[in-house]
Amino acid sequence: MKTYTGIPASAGIAIATAFVYRDEEFPEVPRYIIKKTEINAEWKKLQKALARSVAEVKALYEKAKREISREQADIFQAHLLMLEDVDFHDQLLARMKTSLRNIEWVVWDVSHETSQKLMMSADPVFRERAVDIADIARRVINNLLSVKRNRPSLAKMDRDVILVARNLIPSDAITIDKSRVKGLALDEGSQTSHTAILARAFGMPAVLGLSTISKKIKDGEMLMLNGTSGTVTVNPDKRTLTRHENEVKQQRKRSDLLAKLRDLPAETTDGRRVTLKANIGFPEEAERALRSGTEGIGLYRTEFLFMSPGKAADEEAQYEAYSRVLKTMGKMPVTIRTVDLGGDKLVPEFQDNEKNPLLGYRAIRLSLANPELFKMQLRAILRAGVNGNVRIMFPMISGIEELEQARALLDEARAECKKKKQAFARDIEVGVMIEIPSAAMTADILAEKAGFFSIGTNDLIQHSLAVDRGNEKVSHLGDSYHPAILRFLKQIIDAAHEKGIKAGMCGELAGDPAATAVLLGLGLDEFSMTSLSIPHIKEIIRGVNMESCKALANKCLRGRSTSEVRSSIKAWMSANDRVKKR
Ligand code: PEP
Ligand code: MG
Repeated sequence: MKTYTGIPASAGIAIATAFVYRDEEFPEVPRYIIKKTEINAEWKKLQKALARSVAEVKALYEKAKREISREQADIFQAHLLMLEDVDFHDQLLARMKTSLRNIEWVVWDVSHETSQKLMMSADPVFRERAVDIADIARRVINNLLSVKRNRPSLAKMDRDVILVARNLIPSDAITIDKSRVKGLALDEGSQTSHTAILARAFGMPAVLGLSTISKKIKDGEMLMLNGTSGTVTVNPDKRTLTRHENEVKQQRKRSDLLAKLRDLPAETTDGRRVTLKANIGFPEEAERALRSGTEGIGLYRTEFLFMSPGKAADEEAQYEAYSRVLKTMGKMPVTIRTVDLGGDKLVPEFQDNEKNPLLGYRAIRLSLANPELFKMQLRAILRAGVNGNVRIMFPMISGIEELEQARALLDEARAECKKKKQAFARDIEVGVMIEIPSAAMTADILAEKAGFFSIGTNDLIQHSLAVDRGNEKVSHLGDSYHPAILRFLKQIIDAAHEKGIKAGMCGELAGDPAATAVLLGLGLDEFSMTSLSIPHIKEIIRGVNMESCKALANKCLRGRSTSEVRSSIKAWMSANDRVKKR
């Protein structure tokens, strides 16, 4: 058994045998010198090949539009633009005239140079475009040579597989047999690569950036791929397999529930209605969230927009991303969290060699220290706000001064929009993440200046229990059911309610089925989680009553240790199951 770790690009678990796809390199490109008098004939040949290529890409575009979405189909629209780009044609003609090389050679030369340049870019988005150029050039050269693409078809598989490849160009990705390909494991790619975007749109688990996995894995080997943790295990042992098979069963169960529960309210049997929302990190995830029956976005982690090396998203790019989410969600609230860079989400421009990055220059501290950058984000959110129902949330607030400073900069951002006569959303709710113990302890004060709370249990646990959430040696100590955490939760929720604001939670605990009844009992109003968990949590909520949840919460609050709390929950769950079965 061996496990490889890459970039978790599309959540979910898949277990199947490997299908190792060796993409053909470029077709053998004939290279010879032509006479000046032959230029015309070569040029005509190119026109025909381009026309054929355009027809092929148009067909792929229509297929993508029909089978996936308009947005994903745009990848092929971009290919069409490149194929029809007059400058590109002029460049080819000029190169043919100066070099007197045959047209296949010229197409190869020009496209190779362009993609090499893009590959050198620090920006992964540009590096991904290099893949598109290679895809187009291969198609044109194939058509010039009238070569039928002779690689194995991905469109029809005779068994369930996990597709392993160096990379997957978009036109291959679109054709894959989605009923048989259970997961994707690629050497290359990133969260922003087209293939990652497509995998998420297909709902197909994917791990990218696995370096040389396609050379290490053999066809037919058993693989277990976890797109949530970003791991691929080869020949998993029986225990691992059983554990993951159970998770797969859970996954299936969840999808069935999804269909049944989608439009039902998250309401206990005695009528306590709470809100279930989704956490997202990329705009395209909003569509999946909608399908899960979410009532909005409870946490949009915007820092991923800033994590492309060497490039921070400018105001327009941010405006576009936020608008896209808001438009997708329609009237539903979208909570945009201002950047939470730092800690484990390091960006070299801001953090250099901090001894304790988790306690360092991060999140709201970084935003307040860079007011122009912060206001740029706030303006983008305010302006995008006209496209939907936006809320703003500040991360890692440690006390009232930080909230006041952040609010003052928000006022400045509003004034700047007004001055530039830009349309922007006026009445935006402003909330605070409660994820630092000092914020939890002063929640009553923060509640005076906050429109809502969202409890970030991931950090709250890390900081309260002094356990680095990324360190596997101590991670078992970061237990959500520590009595200290439960006391914090009660204090935060009570403080919110006393001041008449809602208390939500967007840390992982909100999507933990074992915690649902306790959180209901403590009075939590809003649960925000990965959209895959929404149906399951909704099912639990719809099967419990508040009286029993409150009794459980009180019992847990009296717990003296983590194990006492856990056993109270366990006992409650089995008693509740027995009641339901009766
Ligand atoms: C949290 O800390 O619980 C949280 C939701 O924020 P993040 O996981 O992005 O730190
Ligand atoms: Mg956090």
